[in-house]
Amino acid sequence: MRRALINLSAVILILLVASLSSSADPITQLPTHEKVVALTFDACETITPAYFDMPLLNYLLKERLPFTIFISGKFAREPANALVIKQLSHNPRVKIENHSFSHVLHMERLPAQRVRDEVLKTERIILKLTGKRPRFFRFPGGYCDRRTMALVESLGYRVVRWTFASGDPDRNITPLRLKRWVLLKTRPGAILIFHINGRGYSTAAALPVIVRELKRQGYRFVRLDEVF
Ligand SMILES: [Zn+2]
Repeated sequence: MRRALINLSAVILILLVASLSSSADPITQLPTHEKVVALTFDACETITPAYFDMPLLNYLLKERLPFTIFISGKFAREPANALVIKQLSHNPRVKIENHSFSHVLHMERLPAQRVRDEVLKTERIILKLTGKRPRFFRFPGGYCDRRTMALVESLGYRVVRWTFASGDPDRNITPLRLKRWVLLKTRPGAILIFHINGRGYSTAAALPVIVRELKRQGYRFVRLDEVF
């Protein structure tokens, strides 16, 4: 009986270690129950060129908020964007992370080499512009499977999604609706996602109200790399 118990606890221990060493799912939550949230912004471009939402960016900088930007290589290559990224790299509150090169939705349909290229090409661009190697990767649209997850992790990345979609790329969402939705859904440890590429149509108007209200509720803000 005792031996069986020892064996059982050994099995549990092995399972626990296995679950810690390989993450089966993307990160969707900060490892905390405290009133802490991460502001994350996607800066991606698909067919037509996209540029930084300067009113939104200036607000974040003025408020001295810590935040994380997931950047696609194509977006970062635009000279105007590259200049902003270089400036941001001197700001200790901002971290630039990897959001693929060409923002192919459904990277899980790509062959392995193409997946690696998407990650490494952008990694080189970010490293060159900021002097810092990205550690987190966000799949375009959040779409991935175990194979693509494992591929990206084998390149040294943690894969991050979001806790709930803010819906800010929707042209029909008003600042008021965006604010109500985000405040309704935010819980301690939430990873919030917005767009900072000019495709978050109400984000610059809604975010100051969201941040003010969350602060009033006792929340503080962190960069992803501070908590993982
Ligand atoms: Zn994106």
